[in-house]
Amino acid sequence: MAVPETSRLSLNTATVRERWTLAQAIEGCARHGLGGISPWRDKVAELGLGEAARRIRDAGLAVTGLCRGGLFPASDAAGRAAAIADNRRAIEEAAVLGARCLVLVAGGLPAGSRDIAGARAMVGDGIAAILPDARAAGVALAIEPLHPMYAADRACVNTLDQALDLCDALGPGVGVAVDVYHTWWDPNLARAIARAGAERILAFHICDWLVPTTDLLLDRGMMGDGVIDIRAIRGLVEAAGYTGLHEVEIFSAGNWWKRDPDEVVAICKERHRAVC
Ligand code: ZN
Repeated sequence: MAVPETSRLSLNTATVRERWTLAQAIEGCARHGLGGISPWRDKVAELGLGEAARRIRDAGLAVTGLCRGGLFPASDAAGRAAAIADNRRAIEEAAVLGARCLVLVAGGLPAGSRDIAGARAMVGDGIAAILPDARAAGVALAIEPLHPMYAADRACVNTLDQALDLCDALGPGVGVAVDVYHTWWDPNLARAIARAGAERILAFHICDWLVPTTDLLLDRGMMGDGVIDIRAIRGLVEAAGYTGLHEVEIFSAGNWWKRDPDEVVAICKERHRAVC
């Protein structure tokens, strides 16, 4: 496998969220020669949807995903309907941005619930409800399974196979985002990636798993600083036919969020070449 060009790197703006606005991130990605960007909806709203779309287009960047939709489970029908309405707005935003996909983080258990099977059913129902809108808008939905440590509070879809079972049930228009941070530990990962295939792998997210990890959410590592064989997982997704970008996504309150974003992006580029 060849050393990846920097044009294959995309920046998930969460990586620089504390110190760069979206406008700065767009400019920074272009200046560093990256090929793409994956913005978060709050930052898009801050800049304005039309303006964000125009600036990203003018910078020549692909939008590898819009973060994020999902979060379907709720304790009552009104809560579930509100989530579906919000996802419909996210689909419209993804369409305006020309995003490769809308990333769906499933959502966890409703407050007070112990019914994880019920929460998972709500996720399937929620995606089914928005799928016609997504198909009509030409927006692909990417279910991102999250590491099981988030099952209670963020995402009750926890393995690639579980996400693919949902895709099988829902039909065309739904695929997966493969994030090395969430999937590297899975003994069935190679088979699941092969099962997903080129059409359903809509995004590939990279960072690293630090040992020890000191915060469940905000202590992700830079590629090369942890224990994930990122190159091997890249090999699996590309063997399955994925030709898209490699999106770096690092939540790191204690380290990377504190640094100068220009330095962070420069190190992302260097590590992308070295270990991806
Ligand atoms: Zn991710």
